[in-house]
Amino acid sequence: MRTNDERLEVLFHQVNDQYFQDQLKIRGIFWTKRRNLVGKNFQHWAQCLTKFKGICLLDKLKNIAPDYVLRYLVFHECLHFFWVYHCRSFRQAEKEFEQLKKADQ
Ligand SMILES: [Zn+2]
Repeated sequence: MRTNDERLEVLFHQVNDQYFQDQLKIRGIFWTKRRNLVGKNFQHWAQCLTKFKGICLLDKLKNIAPDYVLRYLVFHECLHFFWVYHCRSFRQAEKEFEQLKKADQ
């Protein structure tokens, strides 16, 4: 797997292990600049590259976002490998993250 930060690789492995039984294969996970992300609104903190099978996160998050926020973003982008849109099934799968997180506390 390609990356430009080991921390991202670690976070991806944690998400993969916890939510996807370590079955998800991606080709890369990277920090990127906003201009590389699709769309110009602030909701775009991260993006999945479905063709390449990779994940990009906005590099401005690097120094301000704690790991659990980044894990959530990675998890969210991973779900986009299964559903392109935020459809009902997507939202349902996303809820799993919140529930498991609550169980942790
Ligand atoms: Zn999304």
